[in-house]
Amino acid sequence: MKKANILALLLAVMMLTLAFAGCNTGTDETSSAASSSQAAASSASDESKTSVTVPEKIKNAGKIVVATSADFPPYEFKDDNGNYVGIDIEIMQAIADLWNVELEVSDMKFDAVITAVATGKADVGAAGLTITEERLESVNFTDTYTQATQVIIVKEDSDIQTIDDLAGKKVGVQLGTTGDIYASDDDAIKDGVECFNSGIDAVLALVQGKIDAVLIDNEPAKAFVKQNEGLKIIDEKYTDEAYAFATAKEDKDLVNALNEALAVLDSNGKLDEIVNKYIKAD
Ligand code: GLN
Repeated sequence: MKKANILALLLAVMMLTLAFAGCNTGTDETSSAASSSQAAASSASDESKTSVTVPEKIKNAGKIVVATSADFPPYEFKDDNGNYVGIDIEIMQAIADLWNVELEVSDMKFDAVITAVATGKADVGAAGLTITEERLESVNFTDTYTQATQVIIVKEDSDIQTIDDLAGKKVGVQLGTTGDIYASDDDAIKDGVECFNSGIDAVLALVQGKIDAVLIDNEPAKAFVKQNEGLKIIDEKYTDEAYAFATAKEDKDLVNALNEALAVLDSNGKLDEIVNKYIKAD
């Protein structure tokens, strides 16, 4: 690697460290990253006959390494057999099938995903990642594959009915997420923000009455409310967001090829099929 490249990489890592404006990220960010491989259980599907550009690096490796945080249903979670499943995982599997390579899922804490991608430990970040200006400084994002919102979960009998009611309350968020970043930046609620390693940890704290509300993405919110009695989502949403997959900044071939693959999956109905499998119309 040329000296200039090493300098650029160092700079990128420094910027990333500075970019975490929300809760304290702690020190064990990388040590908890565990890797697990999922065999590409692909039969010769129709898609695999479509000719698409496979990035040279991925073709040579024979696999695509995807960084995720499998605690975010219905986008990524583990099924009862311990397999990685969910919308993001299945979209990535469909892309791996198109490219005729294996999918390797690398599971880690959410706040390690962007760093894993920016430093080349993983090819793609697929973790219900919201596109933000700050993240765009350290990674590229593909085209958006879904829209989302941040919502507020409270107990059914809570006096919190609107965003304004959050003032002075204890609001749980997941470390490093947009919920964390926005809440920590919101003068009305930042003093009451409490960080958790996962969304479900925040929800359990709410169930136990340790906090008053949880700020989190809408679909995981629905999943967690379903799994835990006595909770509801308030009507007013906090933000609108768009999800995309993240790749290393310098790897333009990869982001272009992912966009091409996403367009194929969009036009052949596969994207809709995957989303509809996990998200039932209300
Ligand atoms: N969409 C949120 C973000 O990008 C949360 C994602 C997650 O918790 N997996 O920060």
